[in-house]
Amino acid sequence: MPILVFNCGSSSIKYTLYEKTSGEVIHRGVEQRVTDYNGSLEKIFSDLDTLLTGGFSSIEAVGHRVVHGGRRFRHPHLIDSHVMKGIRSYAELAPLHNPPNIRGIEFAGHRLPGARQVAVFDTSFHSGIPPEAHNYALPVEMAKEYRIRRYGFHGISHQYVHGRAAGFCDVNGNDELKVITCHLGNGCSIAAVRGGLCIDTSMGFTPLEGLVMGTRCGDLDPAIIHYLMSPAGGGLTDDQVHDLLNCESGLKGLSGLSSDVRDLLAARSQGHEGAALALSVFTYRLKKYIGAYHGILGGADALVFTAGIGENSPEIRSETLSSLQPLGFIIDEGLNEAVSGGEAEITGEGGKVRIFVIPTDEDFMIYQEVLKILELQT
Ligand code: AMP
Repeated sequence: MPILVFNCGSSSIKYTLYEKTSGEVIHRGVEQRVTDYNGSLEKIFSDLDTLLTGGFSSIEAVGHRVVHGGRRFRHPHLIDSHVMKGIRSYAELAPLHNPPNIRGIEFAGHRLPGARQVAVFDTSFHSGIPPEAHNYALPVEMAKEYRIRRYGFHGISHQYVHGRAAGFCDVNGNDELKVITCHLGNGCSIAAVRGGLCIDTSMGFTPLEGLVMGTRCGDLDPAIIHYLMSPAGGGLTDDQVHDLLNCESGLKGLSGLSSDVRDLLAARSQGHEGAALALSVFTYRLKKYIGAYHGILGGADALVFTAGIGENSPEIRSETLSSLQPLGFIIDEGLNEAVSGGEAEITGEGGKVRIFVIPTDEDFMIYQEVLKILELQT
């Protein structure tokens, strides 16, 4: 019986259909630039109905990627009315992300009343981050009242690639394995993981903090926001600041050209100064985080590059680690160049930290979590 994995974003709906026992992918699909959400969901279900011999009603369970699970959801959950209430309460903290997740859950629940639905949260992997890392230095009562803390995101991806790296290091279950995972896609984040537990990550209260991203600024002096809203700084409105920091900054803003690393690498090779600046700020910030995480972990056994940039750009991998040799991060440039789509180790001679490129697979991770929940139910 098939298992459906849904990733309902604000402007796209991705889905993957798995064969329950073999884990084989039966079908993958995506609806891009979604404007009529219910219309797109209708279309997906109609496609599934044609595709599956037993129609869409043969689907046994649906796994949903849910972006924000707050403090409450530390693990995947079978969805019931209490879980839905919790997901709704976190929509205030993730207004762009949780509402489309909720629509996907409601729609699937309607169409498949007999199927079990499971929520897998992007924040769960980070829910054990210790107080020194999840607290901002704000008045503690205020932070508590307004639920302000580091939540972290991309958790499903960090957890997946961490699991793969731990397998390669052959120390599954070793409670001391120290791994730094770098998810570098359109959104970028990095995590420090010890013994399978995430102890810090760069995204925070929202996915805006941390690394330089395609169009997001990442770390910023918060006083800049106040300044931009003052007459001296242009007098921007709330919405304008939000748009600036989320949609016009990062690689796009720095380069004045593009948010896509492929375009920037090509432009840099033609002497484009903006592209060169954007890429150097990107790798510099990433280097700082890797150095910091090496410090808080007390060393590192492995480092993983994943997602669009991490999996596909030997230049970015090499430039990021270029000054980190003294800490034991040494790349074999030949192996680095030769990576072509699959999992690869690119550690150079004398390296103390094993360096991997591991394609992320959030949907497969969600499928596995659904299976675990189904097993618990039987
Ligand atoms: P993702 O969000 O994981 O799909 O990653 C998307 C980003 O990956 C794109 O915006 C590009 O910046 C980057 N990317 C994809 N392919 C390549 C490539 N061959 N070289 C460099 N960057 C790439």
